[in-house]
Amino acid sequence: MPTLTLYESDTHKNILLEDFTSGEMVPANQHLIIHEGKGALLDPGGHKVQSHVYSDISKFITPDALEILFFSHQDPDIVASANFWFMMTNATGYIPAVWLRFVAHFGIDTKLIGRMISIPDEGMRAELNGSELIFIPAHFIHSSGNIQVYDPVSKILYSGDLGAAIGNDYQVVEDFDEHLKLMEGFHARYMPVGRALKGWVSMIRELDIEIIAPQHGAMFIGKEMVNKFIDWIETIDCGIDIMEDIYKIPS
Ligand code: FE
Repeated sequence: MPTLTLYESDTHKNILLEDFTSGEMVPANQHLIIHEGKGALLDPGGHKVQSHVYSDISKFITPDALEILFFSHQDPDIVASANFWFMMTNATGYIPAVWLRFVAHFGIDTKLIGRMISIPDEGMRAELNGSELIFIPAHFIHSSGNIQVYDPVSKILYSGDLGAAIGNDYQVVEDFDEHLKLMEGFHARYMPVGRALKGWVSMIRELDIEIIAPQHGAMFIGKEMVNKFIDWIETIDCGIDIMEDIYKIPS
């Protein structure tokens, strides 16, 4: 699916990069935030897309203008290309604290791991060339160490796996009820517990959100669609809520 500009002003730009996933890979979205010529790349993806994402970014900024690499959690569709990005840019990486040393298994050596900042469980605020980004705690949604990004300028919440859909052939949700069918299975199985989602909902209602952009699937644009999504998330049971009978030795 093609590149999409989600927000643009004289100084600030939010871009959904072209989707380069193919074959057996679960489709994944890579997002770029640019502020005054410097960039942040969110959830860069795996080996098979890294060089495509690199050349796509080069249409907007030079690779040495990439200042932030953000990793929402430890899954391969997010961190597998980490070594490539550290070698090809001077960017600083941000990753949930509990996953920092696990990413070293993707070939991040001692020298490179010094360029990674671990995000504490409480989350933190970071700066992209003077523009604030808020790293929001979203633990157990789905990973036990999981962080989302809120950009106060564009009012976009980058929600990671929350809001993921599988099988959509569109980038923006138009019919929420139809789109639900593509989200339900994913949330039922990949989200560990509804209690985490309810905690997230009460926190996230404090933010002024115009767009929710998940790492898989389609985006929720506009307050009405954003609220429909948040209202749905508040109600669902998932993971251990509905799978408590699973702990049996297989026959
Ligand atoms: Fe994941």
